[in-house]
Amino acid sequence: MIKLVNVNMNFRGKQTLKDINLTVEPGEIMVIIGPSGSGKSTLLRLIIGLLKPTSGEVWVNGREITGMTEDELNKIRLGMGMVFQYSALFDSMSVGENVAFGLRQHTGMPEEEIRRTVRRKLRMVGLSGQENAMPNELSGGMKKRVSLARAIAIDPHIVLYDEPTAGLDPIMSNTIDRLIVSTRRMIGATSVVVTHDMSSAFRIADRIVMIYGGSIIESGTPEMIKQSENPIVVKFVRGAAN
Ligand code: ADP
Ligand code: MG
Repeated sequence: MIKLVNVNMNFRGKQTLKDINLTVEPGEIMVIIGPSGSGKSTLLRLIIGLLKPTSGEVWVNGREITGMTEDELNKIRLGMGMVFQYSALFDSMSVGENVAFGLRQHTGMPEEEIRRTVRRKLRMVGLSGQENAMPNELSGGMKKRVSLARAIAIDPHIVLYDEPTAGLDPIMSNTIDRLIVSTRRMIGATSVVVTHDMSSAFRIADRIVMIYGGSIIESGTPEMIKQSENPIVVKFVRGAAN
């Protein structure tokens, strides 16, 4: 579903990602962990085609995207949803308009069906009846859920989450975790979740990949990560659990 082959990413000569090889299977929840600045967000931006790697290949849904034009990329992006770290809602639009945005831009869906879809997606994230609220009236956790409803509005095959629980209290983090799992179940989406929250990673992941200094240093099931003998992994997992 997603495959990175020998991917390197440099910013102004500084190597941010080094020789990344990664495959995400259809329907899998892959969680990416690692300290801040290790290249996690950069990895997501490469997958959604917002960045082109300095070298290497990025495959999405059986197609190599690095050589694609912006038009072709936009078609590929229709099959992807992304929940950004800072929710990134349009503040001047209502909750309903935010969720409807992609549907209006990219589908010829009739207005009545758009409204139905928006209602259904808001119900999925536990925000029924909030269509007319404005983003600045919402709590951080609610904004995050609107952002998720917007990401899944077009029933994407792939959903990318950048630190979806950052800044949320444990109860809301738990809610978001459950939504990530139920989203995978309901729309069958392949999911890549970047987080620094180890308890969240262990709860939701089929597979965990740890990035450190731009390289993948460990990868495996949550059980395998818990038993890792790599000292950096051990320290990170313990430190984050405290
Ligand atoms: P993480 O998400 O793991 O915290 P990032 O992927 O955001 O890490 O960033 C990794 C490194 O790449 C950082 O040192 C950051 O400063 C650098 N970086 C990220 N994006 C850019 C950019 N657009 N231009 C220059 N440097 C960048
Ligand atoms: Mg980041």
